[in-house]
Amino acid sequence: MFARAMQSSRHPILAQIVPIRRCNLACAYCNEYDEASDPVPTETMLRRIDRLADLGTTIITLSGGEPTLHPELDLLIRRIREKGALATLITNGILLTEDRIRRFNRAGLDYIQISVDNIVGDESSKKSLKALERRLVWLAALAEFDVTINSVVGEGIRKPEDALLVARRARSLGFTSTIGIIHDHLGQSRRLEDSHREVVEQVLSLSGSLFSFAHFDQFQEHIIRGIPNDWHCRAGGRFLYICEEGLVHYCSQQRGRPGIPLEDYTAHDLETEGKREKICAPLCTISCVHQTAMLDSFREGPRETLAGILERRERREPGFQPPFTVRLLSWLFLDVRLRGVFGKLALKFLGLPTRP
Ligand code: SF4
Ligand code: SF4
Repeated sequence: MFARAMQSSRHPILAQIVPIRRCNLACAYCNEYDEASDPVPTETMLRRIDRLADLGTTIITLSGGEPTLHPELDLLIRRIREKGALATLITNGILLTEDRIRRFNRAGLDYIQISVDNIVGDESSKKSLKALERRLVWLAALAEFDVTINSVVGEGIRKPEDALLVARRARSLGFTSTIGIIHDHLGQSRRLEDSHREVVEQVLSLSGSLFSFAHFDQFQEHIIRGIPNDWHCRAGGRFLYICEEGLVHYCSQQRGRPGIPLEDYTAHDLETEGKREKICAPLCTISCVHQTAMLDSFREGPRETLAGILERRERREPGFQPPFTVRLLSWLFLDVRLRGVFGKLALKFLGLPTRP
C-alpha cells in the first residue's frame, strides 16, 4: 500500500464501500445505519468493486451499517483480492464465529477493524469488551489477517478510561489498537475534556505503527484540543466513500458531495475533487482521510515530513525510541551516508528520487 501510494498520486489510496446500510446495533452517536434496508445485490456490488479496481484503488474497505449482514460478503472479499486490491472490513464483530473467521481466511481478507466502545455495554453502545471477548480470542487463535481494535472517546462516552483497558487487552492478544474521537454529524471535532484527552495520549503511545506514531503528532494534538488544523483534504481523489446507492461522496460525514455515480466517476473527477478545498477540513476527525493525506505529504516531501515528525516527537519526549517502521524510513530518507546500495534500491522500488 505504501509503495503504491508513493508511486502515483492519480489513483485512490482507499475507498470505503457500503454493502448494506442496515445494522444489528443502534449506537447513540452513529449516523451511518438504518434498521430495515436490504443488502445491495451481489451483482451490483461486484460491478462497483470492479469499477474501483479500474480506477486503480489500492485498498477497498467494506463498511456499513454492518457489513457482516451481507449474505455474500466472502464473495465480495474474494473479488477485491482477485482485482489486486487489499480487502479490509470494518465491523462491530457481533456476528463473528469461528467458521466465519476461517471463511474470511479463505476469501483472502487482509485486515479487519473492530470497534469496542466500553467494558460493559450501556444505553450509548453495546459494543463492549464483555460482548466481544470470546470473539476476540477466536480471532487471536484463527485469523490469518491483521486485526485492529478501535476504541472511542468523546461526547456520550461515560467512562473514557475503558478505552485504555480495551487497548491494553487488544495488545495482549497481539492486535493493533487505535482510538477514534466521536465527531458531530458533519465529522467535526469538539475540544475534549481533560480525562478523555489523557486517554487518547496514552492509547496512542501504546502503538508501534507508523500511522499512530505520526498521529501522535501536532495534528492529533490539535483535534483533541478543538484547534483547527492546516491541511488539504484529498477526499474525492485519494479517498472515496461509496454509499449503498453507488454514489461517490467525500466521506461518511459529507454525503451528497460530489454525489456522482461511481460508474460515471472518471480520472478527471478524481483530480478535480481531490484538489477541491473542503471547508470542513480544519476541524475534521476522519482519521483514514488524514492518513491518506499524510502519505501524500510524505510522497511530496519525504525528508521534510519525516524529519518534522521525529523532531516534534523528540521535543515532547526526549530519549524516545521510534517504532521499527519509522526507524526504517529514517534510515532510508535521513541517514544518507549509512543507507548504501540497499537503501537506494528500496527508494527506486518506491519510485522516489535516490538523491537528497
Ligand atoms: S455498530 Fe457501527 S454502524 Fe452499527 S450503529 Fe454502531 S457505530 Fe453505527
Ligand atoms: S475534511 Fe474531508 S474527510 Fe473531513 S469531513 Fe470534510 S470532506 Fe470529510
